[in-house]
Amino acid sequence: MSVSASAPVIPVTRTSSPRPHPAEDALGFGKYFADHMLVVDYTEGQGWHDARIVPYGTLALDPAASVLHYGQAMFEGLKAYRLMDGRISLFRPDRNAHRMATGAGRLSIPAIDQSLFVQGIAQLVATDADWVPSAPGTALYIRPTIIATEPFLGVRASRTYTFYVITGPVGAYYAGGLKPVRIWVERERVRAVRGGIGAAKAAANYVASLQVAEQARERGCDQVLWLDAIQHEYVEEVGTMNLCLVIDGTLVTPPLGGSILPGITRDTVLTIARDWEMPVEERLVSMTEVRDAHAKGTLQEVFGVGTAAVVSVVGTLASEDGDIVINGGEPGPVAQKLYDAITRLQYGLDPDPRGWRM
Ligand code: PMP
Repeated sequence: MSVSASAPVIPVTRTSSPRPHPAEDALGFGKYFADHMLVVDYTEGQGWHDARIVPYGTLALDPAASVLHYGQAMFEGLKAYRLMDGRISLFRPDRNAHRMATGAGRLSIPAIDQSLFVQGIAQLVATDADWVPSAPGTALYIRPTIIATEPFLGVRASRTYTFYVITGPVGAYYAGGLKPVRIWVERERVRAVRGGIGAAKAAANYVASLQVAEQARERGCDQVLWLDAIQHEYVEEVGTMNLCLVIDGTLVTPPLGGSILPGITRDTVLTIARDWEMPVEERLVSMTEVRDAHAKGTLQEVFGVGTAAVVSVVGTLASEDGDIVINGGEPGPVAQKLYDAITRLQYGLDPDPRGWRM
């Protein structure tokens, strides 16, 4: 996929005070921001208008703006990668555009035009090309966001919105190979409920997770395994990643039933595993099945998949019922092989037969 030459060019106002670039070995996540941002306004009757690239800076919001009261906000997350030859690549940005447009409806937010999303991000990344780091495993993280801006306290959808995209360099997730994590199985509180907003990347989904994640950390766990909101029995997601299990040689992931975010990495993993002719199943998995498979020795691997880490190996599932240690707490071969294949595609080290790099 390449950028269309005929796309209208978005006007750029360049910063007069570029910021110093942080050292590439201490980037972390979400701490540093590049010099420019893309901003597009929405007005009812007029649609999305006035796309512009401007210096990174504060937004002016009326204190009555509906986002501040009723939480009408959603976001996306993707990365730009520095390839071996120095060029810059986005990975499947059309899928993020599609997810934002389809998730918007549930939040009564007007869908952003998908070509404006992709072309706007491509132009923003080109404007801040010197912010795309090149140390192994680093990337430029891209955060598209939509907020409701109408100053009105009635409880109804806002009539004005701002779409903006900020970016910033982020560090390598793994310095010394995949690092298995300890996960708290949460049996009471839930992230999202079927019929709710879990399938959209709504800001509100994340606030529901913070208290549980904080208490998991106090218990010595890195993240939370989310179960379904009705029976508290079926596995759904892990932290902010989709969940994959390898049970008796089959790659299993819960189906997208409305409470699970349709992850782009999840889709990438399923597509690649099917290409490898590995058995793949999208089906419900209960904690009873997880425990039974562990007892029988058929629970071979558990891992999360998402943009941030690509693959995050679950070494231990911890709960009041005791620990389930998976694969001796070590990364398994499927997680490792998927991680290698996807990162090689993202960084341009392997051919790209599906046209996923842009
Ligand atoms: N689930 C949740 C709740 C997430 O926040 C994310 C990260 N966007 C994912 C899954 C993984 O999605 P993706 O592969 O598109 O990053």
